[in-house]
Amino acid sequence: MKRKDNFSELMGYAGKHRFLTYASWVLSALSALLALVPFVYIWLIVREVIRVNPDFSQASGIVKNGWMAVLFALLSMLVYFAALMCSHLSAFRIAGNIRKRAMAHVAALPLGFTEEMGSGRVRRIVNESSTATETYLAHQLPDLAGAIATPIGMLALLFAFDWRLGLLCLLPSVAAFCIMAKMTGKSMAEKMRQYQGALEDMNNEAVEYVRGIPVVKTFGQTVFSFKRFKGSIDRYNTWVVAYTKQLMKPMLWFTTAINGAFALLVAAGLVVARGDVTPEFLLDLIFYIIFTPVISVTLNKVMYMSENGLIVDDAMRRIRSLLEIRPLPEPASPRLPKDNSVEFDEVRFRYRNASEDAVKGVSFRAEPGQTVAFVGPSGGGKTTAAGLISRFWDASGGAVKVGGENVRDIPKETLMRTVSYVFQDSKLLKASVRENVKLARPEATEREVLAALHDAQCDDIVAKLPRGIDTVIGAKGVYLSGGERQRIAIARALLKNAPIVVLDEATAFADPENEAAVQRAFERLSEGRTVIMIAHRLTTVRHADRIFVWQEGQIAESGTHEELLEQKGLYEKMWRDYQTSVSWKVGGES
Ligand code: ADP
Repeated sequence: MKRKDNFSELMGYAGKHRFLTYASWVLSALSALLALVPFVYIWLIVREVIRVNPDFSQASGIVKNGWMAVLFALLSMLVYFAALMCSHLSAFRIAGNIRKRAMAHVAALPLGFTEEMGSGRVRRIVNESSTATETYLAHQLPDLAGAIATPIGMLALLFAFDWRLGLLCLLPSVAAFCIMAKMTGKSMAEKMRQYQGALEDMNNEAVEYVRGIPVVKTFGQTVFSFKRFKGSIDRYNTWVVAYTKQLMKPMLWFTTAINGAFALLVAAGLVVARGDVTPEFLLDLIFYIIFTPVISVTLNKVMYMSENGLIVDDAMRRIRSLLEIRPLPEPASPRLPKDNSVEFDEVRFRYRNASEDAVKGVSFRAEPGQTVAFVGPSGGGKTTAAGLISRFWDASGGAVKVGGENVRDIPKETLMRTVSYVFQDSKLLKASVRENVKLARPEATEREVLAALHDAQCDDIVAKLPRGIDTVIGAKGVYLSGGERQRIAIARALLKNAPIVVLDEATAFADPENEAAVQRAFERLSEGRTVIMIAHRLTTVRHADRIFVWQEGQIAESGTHEELLEQKGLYEKMWRDYQTSVSWKVGGES
């Protein structure tokens, strides 16, 4: 039933091309039947050889029968090719359509979603799940049609020759089917899900690990950064070994059953004949012995097919789970921001699967044009709060307001135009500098792009690139440091010219010049805009209009730099620690 649902769902993606899938089944079944015919001809040859023995010159039909066998074998192959051609045309289209639908859906989801899910996982779901359906539709289903046609043809032959031997032939097949049913039963479906889950985890950790390499290098971390990745490999390993061991015995019996059919035939044939082996009986026996390889080939196909059935079940479930994640709802009665202020009113937020709120009823206000800084220990909730402003997620309680209106009531497009978010680790596309910057406003003129790059202090970056602003970032030999990437991201934000900017300051800089340049670029970006900055360096925040110190999901202190120093609280302590570390650094270097 479930398989059928999957199938009709898949056919939904095929559109008008679904008839190709059905055509492939008919052709494949026909090919399977045609493939049986050569065996009859081979048997005819053997029969003739035995009959005319020892005077082989009497044999007249051998050559003709031999050619007929070849002809039918070729015909069967040709028809099978045609079947695969049809099935592939439709399968590729379906896989393509699944990918398109899934990607269009992912693009509509809030940014927090990819962050939370891990982009490795999203990639795997979209890519590999659609590939799994392709194998299923292009190979497995046509083979299934063939596998159904083969026993029917066999049954016909069974009556044409010797029904007792025919039945014997079917016996190992029945045994093999029972073993297979056990191997692919309900508990195995669950196992397959776990297997896919472990694989997905490993994949995701690998992607995240490779992403994290720059940070790992900067901070000289070693084995600990491996820990999560290694953990996922270990889990996969333990799982696969246990699974393989469990399947060892059934697989052994299965292989024996399908390949041992002829041994059974020889032994049982003699018993059936009860010592009275007539030439006719011998001939029939020979037919079935010639014929048994077809059984093992067919059953092997069915075997891998049912395994793939499980993979497809799982693939469809994953795709569905992705499609079921709803985009943030668009407002029913849209409202436009009145000014460039940002305000939190008793905002709460909890991540899915988390046991505690990451933001615990926070209120604050940034006036239009002000620069406010978020500082505080890691895990305090700064990034989460900043994400709520751009609606990476929706608050679980309270109201996040931009220009006096709840962000939920502002149309998505307007909110995107109003708020820019510059990430700490700015993701640039593998495209030229120009294209990367223009992404913010595709219709921008060359002058505007150059001006944005200039204001974002990118002149030196562009100057050193081999092809200037047409250099493709990420191409061979073109590597930009974190600070340089962030400057290009700032140029993008400048070009976008949104009145409110959320900035997540980069933590790792290649050198002091780079840091200073990013600093100047930040200042340019702040001019005339409302800025919410997540600051990791206290020097950057000294001149902020207001500083909010985050701790455990709440704002513990707030004020200007001077006010906070006077309060002698957390900020003052952080500032002292910071001063010490700076003087220590300077001392250490001299
Ligand atoms: P900060 O930016 O101040 O370092 P964050 O906003 O990143 O703090 O984190 C606040 C809290 O939310 C932390 O306890 C962190 O563990 C948790 N958190 C952050 N991101 C996620 C996530 N994607 N899923 C679950 N919990 C998260």
